[in-house]
Amino acid sequence: MKRTILKTDNYPDCPYTGKVFASPDSVPMDYWLWGNFTPDELKSKGDGKVMIDTKSMDALQALRDNWGQPLHLTSAFRSAAHNRRVGGVRNSMHVLARAYDINVSGWTQTERRTFERMAIACGFTGFGFYKNQQFIHIDTGRRREWGQRW
Ligand SMILES: [Zn+2]
Repeated sequence: MKRTILKTDNYPDCPYTGKVFASPDSVPMDYWLWGNFTPDELKSKGDGKVMIDTKSMDALQALRDNWGQPLHLTSAFRSAAHNRRVGGVRNSMHVLARAYDINVSGWTQTERRTFERMAIACGFTGFGFYKNQQFIHIDTGRRREWGQRW
C-alpha cells in the first residue's frame, strides 16, 4: 500500500477549507490536487454549492490511488438546506464536507472489506453501511460505525 500523504499541508494558502462556493465553476483550480475528482462530483445535490475539506479530500485521493479503480460518489458535500431536505442528521459530516458516500453495487464482499481496510489506512474514521442502498458512507469525523455490513 502506498503511503498516505497529506498533500495540501504543503500549501498554507490553499483557498478551500471553510469556504462555500456557489457552483462547481466558481471553485479556483490552482490548488486542485485531487486528479481523480472534480468539483462537479463533489457539489451538493439540489443547489450545486461546493465546499472542500482538504484533509478529507487528501484521504479520498489516497484511497482512490490505493484502490486503483474509479469511485462513484453518490453524495459528498451537502449544504445545510439540502441536508434538511433529505432528512440528514443535523451534525452530519456531509455538511462539513468531510463525508463521502461510495456506491458499492456489484462489489464482492471481499472487495468491500478490502475497501474498508484501505479507507481506514488512508485516514477515514467514520463508517456507515447501507446494505439495501448499496453504498458505504466514509468520513473523517469521530471514530464510529453504524449499519449492517454485507
Ligand atoms: Zn453519508
